[in-house]
Amino acid sequence: MSENPLLSISFHIPFNRIRVEHVEPGISELLRQARERIDEFVRSTTPRTFDNTMLELERATENLDYALGVVRHLESVLTTPELRAAWNAMEPQASAFYSGIPLNEGIWKQLQAFAATGEAKALSGTRLRFVTKTLDSFRRHGAELDAAGKKRMAEIDVELTRITTKFSENVLDSTNAFELIVTEEGKLAGLPPSAVAAARQNFQSKNPDTKDATGWRFTLQAPSYIPVLTYLDDRGIREQMYRAYSARATEPERDNRPLLAQILELRREKATLLGFPDFADFVLHDRMAHRGERAIRFLEDLKEKTDPFFAKENAALEAYAGQKLEPWDIGYWAEKQRRALYDFDEEQLRPYFPAVQVVEGMFSIVERLYGIQVKQREGVPVWHPDVRYYEVRERDGLLIGAFYADWFPRETKRDGAWMEAFITGIDAPGHFEPHLGCVCGNLTPPVGDKPALLTHREVETIFHEFGHLLHHVLSRVEVRSLAGTAVAWDFVELPSQIMENWCWEREALDLFARHYETGEAIPEELFRKMVRARTYRGANGQMRQLGFGFTDLKLHRDYTPARDGDVLKYARDILQPFAAAPFPPNYAMIAGFTHLFSSPVGYGAGYYSYKWAEVLDADAFTRFRDEGIFSPQAGGDFRKYILSKGDSEDPAELYRQFMGRDPDPDALLLRSGLIAQG
Ligand SMILES: [Zn+2]
Repeated sequence: MSENPLLSISFHIPFNRIRVEHVEPGISELLRQARERIDEFVRSTTPRTFDNTMLELERATENLDYALGVVRHLESVLTTPELRAAWNAMEPQASAFYSGIPLNEGIWKQLQAFAATGEAKALSGTRLRFVTKTLDSFRRHGAELDAAGKKRMAEIDVELTRITTKFSENVLDSTNAFELIVTEEGKLAGLPPSAVAAARQNFQSKNPDTKDATGWRFTLQAPSYIPVLTYLDDRGIREQMYRAYSARATEPERDNRPLLAQILELRREKATLLGFPDFADFVLHDRMAHRGERAIRFLEDLKEKTDPFFAKENAALEAYAGQKLEPWDIGYWAEKQRRALYDFDEEQLRPYFPAVQVVEGMFSIVERLYGIQVKQREGVPVWHPDVRYYEVRERDGLLIGAFYADWFPRETKRDGAWMEAFITGIDAPGHFEPHLGCVCGNLTPPVGDKPALLTHREVETIFHEFGHLLHHVLSRVEVRSLAGTAVAWDFVELPSQIMENWCWEREALDLFARHYETGEAIPEELFRKMVRARTYRGANGQMRQLGFGFTDLKLHRDYTPARDGDVLKYARDILQPFAAAPFPPNYAMIAGFTHLFSSPVGYGAGYYSYKWAEVLDADAFTRFRDEGIFSPQAGGDFRKYILSKGDSEDPAELYRQFMGRDPDPDALLLRSGLIAQG
């Protein structure tokens, strides 16, 4: 058998030679090598240095990291049953290997031995941060616990895995247990034809033997539920669907209430065991917010500023509807009001967004801002003929990175859009390595001889993922673990979300948003409608997110069963002020909140990050708004202080270096239409 291409790192990944039969032997061999190298590291009696300790620990898994990244990638963009089976066979072994590292006492001893050396004590900058963060991360995984503590930690993790899995199964089963059959066509009034057809097809597939029977089947799955709550005229059916949806996973046989209490208690116990006052402080310790209390204050401040607009929006909607609104009326009347006010159809924009033009326009924007060149290159192996390969160079020609772009859907590709890092280069004195990554999506594909015409949301998606890619490719950090996108969770969306701002600027749009047949720019009237529709009911959108963030933090900080009683009521009382209409008494949103409770950590205590990142991106963009959206000065600073730095410095400090001050939420409020215009 010829050489297994997964065994060595290659900048031009040999996608043309990697076969499914390479996966199991390749990953097994790399796991063996990594284990052996770690054993040698643990046994070594050589005096400890930065190189033979900190960097050696990184190098020990470098080949394994690379191969796992490549296989995981292929499994998500070009899967087959064989590849999935091979991946599923190897992935648990790899996870077990990585999660064993911080609990390996031998490694911990070597790290502490190094930390005690004169070399370690004299460190500064990135190297000091690397040592501090590594020790910290080991501690947060239980490295310093005694034997009994370590045993309890392991038990908690097993229990949390089991209960959170059960939590999401209950949500899924409860969602699937509901159906509503409509047999009179007249009751479907208001629904768009696509939703009617889907409900008809759903009914027929469930009742194959009764072909002639008339019926439309509705479920609590989003594609069925959302159109009903948004468009269906029949108020009774909307109410029935809403009540069923908001009480999911509270039936006796699928009750998530006891599980919620257990998950919260186990998370609290884990945090306490590791020396933190609560789970929120444990999770936020290495994030930009640092403390649960800080995140709460952040949300409170936004709530206070959003409240008056929220009241105004709700009063306006009730006046428009001419009746008292219940929760199942809000979406329905909001859609009617939106159409009356804006008469705006997203589809009108598509002809202005041919995919190839959008991507080229985006490259020309970043070339101006960051002084780089992006050029397609042929002849490099790729995994599918649709995939393009690009190189990123400095103006003087130095290759700083390369990436693949794979934008269109296939049956073998997973949903959504994402960025991946294959190779993270380092930038040490006298030694620079380029980076390699990719961006993937599932955008509207070309049809016939028409080019792919995108929605505005899809254009934002391209810009967003490319922002993550720039964070990776423009990294100039000497330690791999602190490079590129390996930053705090509430900071990582800044480089991506800020890119979306250019999709709303006339000057930027005129570069690439040109009618695919006539070459005309977006007509001014259409552009204005698009901008106005953006802030429609902005306060309601914001309050919804803030309410979830609050509930999440309060549950993980304050909730005490003996004092606070029923967890559903506790959460309902917190959420009520963020909702446009009073909840029914059995409202149980958190029993179905899989974001927070379907894995041991998940988004637990981290939901605030969505808003946090929006504040950062809206605020940071004001420098471009004020200095010019193509300003090489602002772009240069953004590259220097944010994109090139990875996690080599405290993100709050990096932000201050770029903006000259701390983040200010006003820009987000303004962008969401939540600041009174003078
Ligand atoms: Zn993102």
